[in-house]
Amino acid sequence: MTSSLATVSYIGATILFILSLGGLSNPETARRGNLFGIIGMTVAVLATVLGPRVSSVGISWIVAALVVGGVVGLFAAKKVQMTQMPELVALMHSLVGLAACLVGFASYVDTSTVFPTPAEKAIHEVEIYVGILIGAVTFSGSLIAFGKLSGKIGGKPLLLPARHLLNLAGLLVVIWFGREFLRAHDIQAGMTPLIVMTAIALLFGVHMVMAIGGADMPVVVSMLNSYSGWAAAATGFMLGNDLLIVVGALVGSSGAILSYIMCRAMNRNFISVIAGGFGGGAPAAKAAGSGVAQPQGEVVPVSAHETAELLRDAKNVIIVPGYGMAVAQAQHTVNDITKVLRQKGVTVRFGIHPVAGRMPGHMNVLLAEAKVPYDIVLEMDEINEDFPDTDVAIVIGANDIVNPSAQDDPASPIAGMPVLEVWKARTSIVMKRSMASGYAGVDNPLFYKDNNRMLFGDAKKMLDEVLTVLEA
Ligand code: NDP
Repeated sequence: MTSSLATVSYIGATILFILSLGGLSNPETARRGNLFGIIGMTVAVLATVLGPRVSSVGISWIVAALVVGGVVGLFAAKKVQMTQMPELVALMHSLVGLAACLVGFASYVDTSTVFPTPAEKAIHEVEIYVGILIGAVTFSGSLIAFGKLSGKIGGKPLLLPARHLLNLAGLLVVIWFGREFLRAHDIQAGMTPLIVMTAIALLFGVHMVMAIGGADMPVVVSMLNSYSGWAAAATGFMLGNDLLIVVGALVGSSGAILSYIMCRAMNRNFISVIAGGFGGGAPAAKAAGSGVAQPQGEVVPVSAHETAELLRDAKNVIIVPGYGMAVAQAQHTVNDITKVLRQKGVTVRFGIHPVAGRMPGHMNVLLAEAKVPYDIVLEMDEINEDFPDTDVAIVIGANDIVNPSAQDDPASPIAGMPVLEVWKARTSIVMKRSMASGYAGVDNPLFYKDNNRMLFGDAKKMLDEVLTVLEA
């Protein structure tokens, strides 16, 4: 492939990626957006592999790597459960970070490039240093995020004494070693500062995510998404690949916007989240002496039969899905119940919290998969005022996103986070297996409210029973 054809292909791929992002911003156009992304990526890979910068020997190496990577990717995608997607995404972000580090070191030891001026050589070395820095932070931070999301590492924030000073000291050391790196006369001399900086960046990534509490993990997920984009852009600078720079910048900036949206959804200050310490871990850690009010009152259980009757007698129903719906894979039964109720003249709508589930858009994806009509799926802000006029609000495997203590208890780890006000409906029904807390590890006073009922059991099993009664 000639160089001009490769450039044209890159421009085409860039346009397809922009169209892809545009499509993904709306559930109705998301499939099309995905398709644009797939075509764009295929064009980009072909233009790179067949492009002028890859030799015929290189192609066989690349094809071998593509086969190995493709097989691993296919296997992982087939094996992973829908509920494990956030962990998989975190692992993938870590790979982008690792790739940036490897490309950085490879570019540094590669002596084949001749720089016409010392200034160009210095610019290339700055690109390498910054690229490895971002890559290492992304790599170790994403691995810790993977550990936290999969429950292998506890959600409690690790708050080292003087942690902000530690971070600042780390930054200053990185800058100082950067100067040493640029002043090094040969590769051997430059390697030491580069390796020391990489070690500090890896530790910084671990420290940064370890300091963030369970309740703030949504921001971390989207923030690492953004970092992986900047790591890819940095790789693009190191390799002089315009497409990688553009795509990296697209991912980096859209991830940053998403982080901002997640922060707003949780009423958190972005800088405070990054600085760490919000949203503690397990309830036991927060119990005695923490100042967090313990919910009091009685819990009233209901049966699937009673739930079906409450739904049948209602005029207005709002369904609030959460992570438990994903665990139970109950979305198809939810759709069947929605259809039956609508046929009976009941108005059914869905209320989606921006951080419901374990990744941005988790609930929308599940409901779209089950073919729930888009026009009855509403965002929290669009539906929150309607709960007082609602007969039944049914909460399916959600917990933190419907916790009134976010509004009532300033000592709660989720204080200030906007929540779906299901308790304002005439009756709320919470469907879950036990009294266990949700991801943030916070007790939920909703369960004890007079107008609340608890339908205990696996959401899929319980909803199947509800559906049977409704259809009878
Ligand atoms: P929660 O984690 O608060 O609650 C989920 C509830 O589902 C649990 O209390 C659990 O209770 C119940 N559950 C689990 N399995 C089943 C099942 N098979 N059947 C019925 N119920 C089940 O989820 P929410 O969606 O309410 O809130 C999301 C939380 O995740 C927030 O804290 C958010 O910050 C966090 N988070 C969100 C991310 C995102 O990007 N969206 C990323 C990372 C974290 P029980 O065990 O009793 O059944």
